Amino acid sequence: MIRNGRDIPSGTVLSADVCVIGTGPAGVTAAWELQKAGKKVILIEGSRDYSNYRDSWPDKVMLYNGLADGLFATNEKEFLILPYDGHTSPAWERERILGGTSSHWGGQSRPLDPIVFDERPGYPGWPITRKELDPYYAQASSLCVLHGHYGANGENFSTDYWAGVLQAEDAKLDGFETEMYQFMGSSYLNFGTRTFNGITIGQSNADVIINATLLDIDHSGGSVSSLQVASMDTATTPQPATHFTIKANAYVLACGAVANARQLLLSNAGNEHGLVGRYFMCHPLSQNGVISITKPYLNNAQTRLMNGQTPNGQWTDANGVRVTGRFIPTAEEAIKQGIGRCWFWAGGGQYYFEMTPNYNSHISLASTVDPVFRQPQTHITWELADADKQTYEKSTALFKAAVNSRGGDVYYPDWNTVKSQLVVNGHHIGTTRMSSDPTKGVVDADLKVHSLNNLYVAGSSVFPSTGISNPTYTIITLSIRLADHLNQSL
Ligand SMILES: Cc1cc2nc3c(=O)[nH]c(=O)nc-3n(C[C@H](O)[C@H](O)[C@H](O)COP(=O)(O)OP(=O)(O)OC[C@H]3O[C@@H](n4cnc5c(N)ncnc54)[C@H](O)[C@@H]3O)c2cc1C
Repeated sequence: MIRNGRDIPSGTVLSADVCVIGTGPAGVTAAWELQKAGKKVILIEGSRDYSNYRDSWPDKVMLYNGLADGLFATNEKEFLILPYDGHTSPAWERERILGGTSSHWGGQSRPLDPIVFDERPGYPGWPITRKELDPYYAQASSLCVLHGHYGANGENFSTDYWAGVLQAEDAKLDGFETEMYQFMGSSYLNFGTRTFNGITIGQSNADVIINATLLDIDHSGGSVSSLQVASMDTATTPQPATHFTIKANAYVLACGAVANARQLLLSNAGNEHGLVGRYFMCHPLSQNGVISITKPYLNNAQTRLMNGQTPNGQWTDANGVRVTGRFIPTAEEAIKQGIGRCWFWAGGGQYYFEMTPNYNSHISLASTVDPVFRQPQTHITWELADADKQTYEKSTALFKAAVNSRGGDVYYPDWNTVKSQLVVNGHHIGTTRMSSDPTKGVVDADLKVHSLNNLYVAGSSVFPSTGISNPTYTIITLSIRLADHLNQSL
């Protein structure tokens, strides 16, 4: 059932086993898995009743705006509210609608590589291993209706598997791995409207309430007692309509990495060590193609693997899944060079890399307030470090050497040229990172806020490092694991 918060009278107190806040892939997956196991779930979404993310843009401007500085000041001034069109950046960044940013994401999916979970110079380890996540990645592969069987460690993402499906060949570039990325079928992309076992989240047993904005997380003595939630009226410049309370045994904050940090800061929750909002990361992407292949280096069968083509043309399965390959420095090479992960398209093009965790890259509260609920707005600062320059310079030199050894050649510009056109590109990571040490992270390995016994965080805000895989498949995997934890512990 989907209802509108405006129809819930002020003063109402709703109760549930679990309240999930946010209806992007993180929140919907957790809510789906919890209700499936018989838990009474309330799932709230701040957006008013819109069927298209384009229509919700004016509300987004009112509620997501604030101050974006650091590298944003030159490269992506409107990062917080980037509109759906009429802008120069290739990304739309984030949405405020049922389904969240999955209302227009690309569906590109791959598990994080085992190296990402290990501690590396400049990159903290994760308090969980890839092996521990594999059973949940397998469940996520089914939930996302990806192609093939995940197996014990991701067989349906391996190069051998795809070389077989596509009747193609791996180029085996020196110092690089070929990694395969699946794209989810278009009918499964929007988590607000897609079906799971034939029904949408709105048709499930979850009590889905749209037009229900979380304002405050009430907590004391290490426990959350309730959430303060408000709806908006129907005016073009909306004002608060009703105000109600939700009480649950556990709460899951799933508002995306920028809003997760803002909500915790607004409620002064989980910030005992000043870490909420810190280590904002992304996969910086050059706006234009900067890597050019000036002399070819792959044969037809190798090119087909990288482009996801069979000898008969583009490959797509019955569920709409597609696949492509990328060249990525091997784990050994990345550790030897002390660089982050990055990928290269076989035919050149945009550059895309793993940003180093940077304490100064962060989210805080702005001195201005939003025009609807009059709460402090977001202040976000995006900063790169010298290590990011090293990643670019060393990885491009490696790629050029590997291509040269196959008789080809590559051109790439200097770091300053590339840096001046980097954008965040929709992958917002860090800000409430996971660590088993409360002085180093906001949530523990179970995604529970260290200092609160019943508040959990879902989404890429909990990632301690970004790896190079797109984040959402791991977000979905972690939400399945979180629901499993809550289903067992509540
Ligand atoms: C153009 C683009 C392309 C992308 N392509 C890919 C891709 O190919 N592969 C990939 O892995 N990722 C991709 N992404 C990233 C992907 O969209 C995000 O990783 C994913 O949507 C994050 O899911 P989430 O549930 O954590 O947050 P979101 O999807 O952002 O959802 C957050 C939800 O919280 C709600 N909310 C916020 N504040 C409140 C509040 N106070 N009260 C109530 N509700 C609130 C919002 O309305 C929203 O519904 C792309 C992103 C963009 C912008």
